[in-house]
Amino acid sequence: MDLRLQGIGMTSPRTRERMVNRIRELGVTHAATLAALLDTPRHIFVEEALASRAYDDTALPIGFNQTISQPYIVALMTQLLLEAGLPDKVLEVGTGSGYQTAILARLVKRVYTVERILPLQQRARDRLDMLQIRNVRMKHSDGCWGWKGYAPYPAILVTAAPVEIPEPLLAQLAPGGVMVIPVGEGRSQVLQRIHHTETGFQVESIAPVTFVPLIPGLPDQE
Ligand code: SAH
Repeated sequence: MDLRLQGIGMTSPRTRERMVNRIRELGVTHAATLAALLDTPRHIFVEEALASRAYDDTALPIGFNQTISQPYIVALMTQLLLEAGLPDKVLEVGTGSGYQTAILARLVKRVYTVERILPLQQRARDRLDMLQIRNVRMKHSDGCWGWKGYAPYPAILVTAAPVEIPEPLLAQLAPGGVMVIPVGEGRSQVLQRIHHTETGFQVESIAPVTFVPLIPGLPDQE
């Protein structure tokens, strides 16, 4: 096994177990979600210089002004998305480090994930390869448009905050489907869960959160 994967000291499986215990104490009880967190080394999703902080319950920089989400928030969002039953596929918008992607990939048959910053997507791909995760398709694109080719989705997870939910994402949410998404500007974002019901979209407000913004379009340099 790759030595980096195995982890020692601050990156050991024991440290990860403590992280998962803390998340359980914070109220995440969905067993499959907790098992996926326990199985997934978070330290390979951050720069090596930050590896010793990988199991702290905090967001960390991943370059390009982006962050890997706080483990508790990853767990909470996964639980909110999947607690009603495991769907066969998930659309994720905002691949970032690929950590949330890896968690989802352990729980559902197929993950479709969209990222607007190409080098982040490439690094995420390398990490998933390292973990031998093979049920993830990636697209370099503006995720505000969703990913029409595989729509509709029974579950959509967005890990960057729009001011308003992009219309194409609602259009690609299957009837009966669930979307988990932070919505709002700056310090006044709220994590929402949207259910696509027979009578329309039902919005549930979960908690105040802080995510990087969902930015339309692709970066200039590419
Ligand atoms: N789940 C990721 C979170 C990364 S931060 C993790 O835990 O690592 C959010 C990510 O959303 C960033 O990588 C950012 O580049 C990406 N993003 C922002 N706007 C986007 C858009 N319109 N389309 C696709 N990705 C976007």
